[in-house]
Amino acid sequence: MDNSAFGSAPASEPSVARLIVAIMTTDSTGPDPARPPIEGWPDLLTVALGLSTVEVRELCRFLTGALAARACAGLFREIGRWAGMRGSPPDPLERGLRALGARCDCEALEVLARG
Ligand SMILES: [Zn+2]
Repeated sequence: MDNSAFGSAPASEPSVARLIVAIMTTDSTGPDPARPPIEGWPDLLTVALGLSTVEVRELCRFLTGALAARACAGLFREIGRWAGMRGSPPDPLERGLRALGARCDCEALEVLARG
């Protein structure tokens, strides 16, 4: 497969997915560490959500903190808050997350941390 369109990082660099997993595993609600990583997931995330890898990481951190302070409301409440802080509408991001199988903030965090 040709990955050049995604600008893949050299194999020696730690992948965003690994960094996110490192962040997530400090939290008891983190993903199952036994789950095998999905190849290319960070690239897919940035394309599906229209965010840079740095923004995906920021959103992941924000959601981790927000969901530690407030239980998930079963909505994209924190996603909307994060988009609002950046001055962008929540809809393209929410649509991307729904397309990836998330229906609320805690599922969005699972989607972001997969890979
Ligand atoms: Zn939830």
